[in-house]
Amino acid sequence: MSQIPGNGGAVQSVLRWYDEEGRDLPWRQDPRTPYRVLIAEAMLQQTRAETVAPRYEVFLQRFPDLQALAAAPQDEVLRSWEGLGYYARARNLQRLAQMLTAQGGGLPADRAALIGLPGVGEYIASALRSFAFGIPDPPLDANLRRIALRYAGIPGDPLDAASGAAARKLLADWFQMASPAQLGDALMDLGARVCTARRPDCAVCPLQEGCAAVASGAPEEFGVRRPKAAPRTRRILAAQIVSPQGQAWRPRPAKGMLGGLWEPPHVLSEEDAPSLDDLRAQLAQWGVESAEPAGERWPLKHVFTHQVWEGEVIRFVVQAGPLVPPARWLDARSIAQIAVPRAFRTVLAGGK
Ligand code: SF4
Repeated sequence: MSQIPGNGGAVQSVLRWYDEEGRDLPWRQDPRTPYRVLIAEAMLQQTRAETVAPRYEVFLQRFPDLQALAAAPQDEVLRSWEGLGYYARARNLQRLAQMLTAQGGGLPADRAALIGLPGVGEYIASALRSFAFGIPDPPLDANLRRIALRYAGIPGDPLDAASGAAARKLLADWFQMASPAQLGDALMDLGARVCTARRPDCAVCPLQEGCAAVASGAPEEFGVRRPKAAPRTRRILAAQIVSPQGQAWRPRPAKGMLGGLWEPPHVLSEEDAPSLDDLRAQLAQWGVESAEPAGERWPLKHVFTHQVWEGEVIRFVVQAGPLVPPARWLDARSIAQIAVPRAFRTVLAGGK
């Protein structure tokens, strides 16, 4: 790593910039308790701040502390997470809350103790320590990593171990020179607004003076990831099964993709679109025999990070009969109480 000039000056410049330009986000307001920081950081992993902001307050009103989260029905926690995606984060948060309340304790400040908790990895442990406990421990998200690697002029994949260690070393020095929470907030905003992945706006950047990447003439080539593979498309055929007792839905297994959320009968295929016979075979496994389409079809498309589901929903109107558990008939009231992933909302809504 090249010699880093003027670290103290760089930190002061960033903090001055933050005073004028920083974002007013709900999780930055006092009191910044470990629980509030944990919820914010869990939500912000993989989800944009603009999406998280309105849901954060609602979640905290419903689950104001570890005890409330630990005691809530899982379906309710998952429902409060709707729209944020990656539901494993919500399940882990509740497991963590249940573990800590069973032990009669709160979130620890010790790094090793934090990393042993469900859903807490290197990043969240550092964020908790810096933002809630005031311990200088830089949370290396993509923004901080990118800024550090650009400032130091370190080329290559920002996610490899050597780059991570170099970024951490630089930021560990910086975090000793200021309030860790304030500097962390400032760098995250700088990465989101100025030192962005594709178009760093170096002309207005408070780090311009000592930055090796801008001096190289091609700052955008530092601190960025290799292009990701395009998400694969999977074909889907789903069924809206309606009877006098309601719609047929069942909970997915607790583990894995969309774990614990509710699903309608559906078939996914890697290549050709599934056929009506494929769907009928699936219906038979749910206990719905000899179903004929009611004539209505509508499109279903959902883009996940790594895959796209694209296909159709077919409506079937049948006589109510016993379903194979855990499938159940759900009336409108029960439907309002289950957690349904965004991908399947069109099945519930009937294409509206
Ligand atoms: S000067 Fe440019 S490349 Fe360097 S930290 Fe600022 S925005 Fe990023």
